[in-house]
Amino acid sequence: METKQFILEDYKKNGSLGGDDIAKLEEAAAILKKGGLVAFPTETVYGLGGDAFLPDASARIYAAKGRPSDNPLIVHICRLEQLEMLAARITPEARKLAETYWPGPLTMVFEKTELVPKETTGGLNTVAVRFPSHPAAKVLIEKSGTVIAAPSANLSGRPSTTAAAHCIEDLDGRVDAIVDGGDCRIGLESTILDMTGEKPQLLRPGAVTAEMIENTLGYSVEVDAAVKGPLAEGIRPKAPGMKYRHYAPKAEMVLIAEENGGSVSEAMLEAIRPELEAGRRCAVICSEECADELRGLMPELMDRVTVKLTGSRKNIRQAAHVIFELLREADAEGIGFIAAEGSRERELGAALMNRLKKAAAWRVIYV
Ligand code: AMP
Ligand code: MG
Repeated sequence: METKQFILEDYKKNGSLGGDDIAKLEEAAAILKKGGLVAFPTETVYGLGGDAFLPDASARIYAAKGRPSDNPLIVHICRLEQLEMLAARITPEARKLAETYWPGPLTMVFEKTELVPKETTGGLNTVAVRFPSHPAAKVLIEKSGTVIAAPSANLSGRPSTTAAAHCIEDLDGRVDAIVDGGDCRIGLESTILDMTGEKPQLLRPGAVTAEMIENTLGYSVEVDAAVKGPLAEGIRPKAPGMKYRHYAPKAEMVLIAEENGGSVSEAMLEAIRPELEAGRRCAVICSEECADELRGLMPELMDRVTVKLTGSRKNIRQAAHVIFELLREADAEGIGFIAAEGSRERELGAALMNRLKKAAAWRVIYV
């Protein structure tokens, strides 16, 4: 299949959609209307969209990604009223969260209506809904005249895509079109909150943080076990996607996080030294401050290590923004061992640490 590319030139240059951009989004929307697949930018990561009401479109999304068919898709809307079509029961808490955080990086899970095909929800009676804030996503959904099922636009098992180049790498020839809107602002997938129980439950941390949700609701949210650590065999996570190994880089990865005032850089060197001696290609993914410390501690060793910077240690937004790209780079470069610096585990740092821990297969050293 030939994959068309729609480059949103004005949006990439000025951050707002121009007339040509809108015309391209109309063309992309026409593809969606006909049951085709379009990868498009959102503020979190790129999505691989298809008409959520067409079972065939959903089936094609699973096929294009190589995604297991029991891993449900998130349905993207562009107007609050569209939620009524999808969700059978909307609690006052859900309405409050929608009013506060939509459009934005929050996905909520509801009991589904009859309108939503099981193919879109991975066989579940619930549906995950999100209202993205990215202007291109909003226009694309609006022009499609429907609501759009979209998981992250990566091949199953690879990192989520945060730039059009990543989508091309994974999906060229497998989808009808890719809309290039530049880098995704946030770079981590949306927060997922299950609203079907008595109390909201956090199924995946994201940029709408647990702290923000608790502030809005006035009480604490429960956190699903799959967020905290590896699940024991036979336990089913609430978000089926969390049971899959998800993304782990080709390299073995260890995460090193400061908890008791220890030195991350010293622990990193300790982890890397035997790997270098064993002849493996090593990389560190760390802050500028940490990289400076590493070079000061052991300059000769650091000459043999690929350093991938996540920005200043204080800037968690920047680290979240680049992390998937850096992991993709490590894969492309044939890195065999990665030592990554952890962040604090509050607010956006909780979402970043969740992705890092999964990439490291939960191998974390606290210092
Ligand atoms: P992705 O779009 O790749 O981030 O994947 C969507 C995520 O949403 C996966 O982890 C799914 O398991 C989760 N998800 C989608 N629909 C539901 C649902 N109805 N209930 C629980 N989790 C869901
Ligand atoms: Mg995904």
